[in-house]
Amino acid sequence: MSGAAAHAVATAADVPSASPALRRAIVDSSALTSNTEHVAALVHPAAVMAVVKADGYGHGAVTAARAALAGGATWLGVADTDEALALRAEGIDAPLLAWLHGVDPDFTEAVAHDVTLGISSLQQLQRAVAAGSRARPARVHLKVDTGLGRNGIERSEWSTVFESARRAEASGDLVVEGLFSHLSNAADEHDLAQLAAFDEAAALAASAGLRPAIRHLASTAAAFRLPETRLDLVRLGIGLYGLSPFDSVGSTELGLKPAMRVESRLISVKRVAAGVGVSYGYTYRAASDTTLGLVPLGYADGIPRHVSNTGSVWVNGAVHPIVGRVAMDQFVVDLGERAAAVGDRVVLFGDPAEGFPGADDWAESASTINYEIVTRLGRRVKRVPA
Ligand SMILES: *Cc1c(COP(=O)(O)O)cnc(C)c1O
Repeated sequence: MSGAAAHAVATAADVPSASPALRRAIVDSSALTSNTEHVAALVHPAAVMAVVKADGYGHGAVTAARAALAGGATWLGVADTDEALALRAEGIDAPLLAWLHGVDPDFTEAVAHDVTLGISSLQQLQRAVAAGSRARPARVHLKVDTGLGRNGIERSEWSTVFESARRAEASGDLVVEGLFSHLSNAADEHDLAQLAAFDEAAALAASAGLRPAIRHLASTAAAFRLPETRLDLVRLGIGLYGLSPFDSVGSTELGLKPAMRVESRLISVKRVAAGVGVSYGYTYRAASDTTLGLVPLGYADGIPRHVSNTGSVWVNGAVHPIVGRVAMDQFVVDLGERAAAVGDRVVLFGDPAEGFPGADDWAESASTINYEIVTRLGRRVKRVPA
């Protein structure tokens, strides 16, 4: 392993805590498993790759990987090879694809640990060949840009890379296992145009002599909405975590259950007079006498500062507004005339079907997407099993 891993320092998540209830994200593995089962049944006979990059969208990569494999996922996907090697170090030996690489990447460790490489350029292909050998060929999925304008081999390079890959296969140092691309989800017509471009890439690969057994294009949105994009495998990210990729369709309608619930407790409750200013800059003043509750999470924990005066949380059975500016470590809730006490349970977001605000509500309050709400949760928020 790398020197960086050997010198890793303990983080807040690793050391014992005297106050386990301060900030918690409860992660329900059974929801992760059932979400996978649900999508696996929907897309069958296509296979499911569980995307567990970015620490499993904040849920814990190892937790998410194990739960998804239990639910029928046969592949795991991550962005980079460090994420892949961290899963291997936990003993996870399922097929594993990593598709985002740095400048002049060294794939030796990845190949040694059977990590399949997503290849987006001729240079990456050459680095994969260099890391492979006849005894242990580098396994790759060639990633073509079919119109997202982001990662992936550009169309003008398809032939060159395919022919180079074929020569490397002939030498025994490399195996092209897959061909894939990523959709813009801009509109069905754009996704279908990308599907047509993908078919052209597949035909070109075949004429270069490649036989990629696994073709994949769809992530969660297209897996649900465009069956023709499911091909051999779908890459399931946000849906695994029980969240919807669509603006106007919620988890429940898709048959998914949000797997994360973020909880805390009121650590202070105070009665204040009308006119009192709350938090930095006094962006909120109490309209009448009221009760304020203090929640010990702030932007250092991934609470968007944008929910200041727009978001709300569940406190002991009812939903109350976040008032004043979210600070680094804390924010204030206006409880009105409710009876409240220090220690009262607070749920920031969870499963709306259980009466809690959802990650979707938070996304709306913060003018962002549910993906960002769960992924940005900070390290001080302890991930605990349900
Ligand atoms: C993150 C990612 C996914 C997962 O997308 P979701 O919308 O979360 O399902 C799939 N494929 C690639 C290439 C990705 O980067």
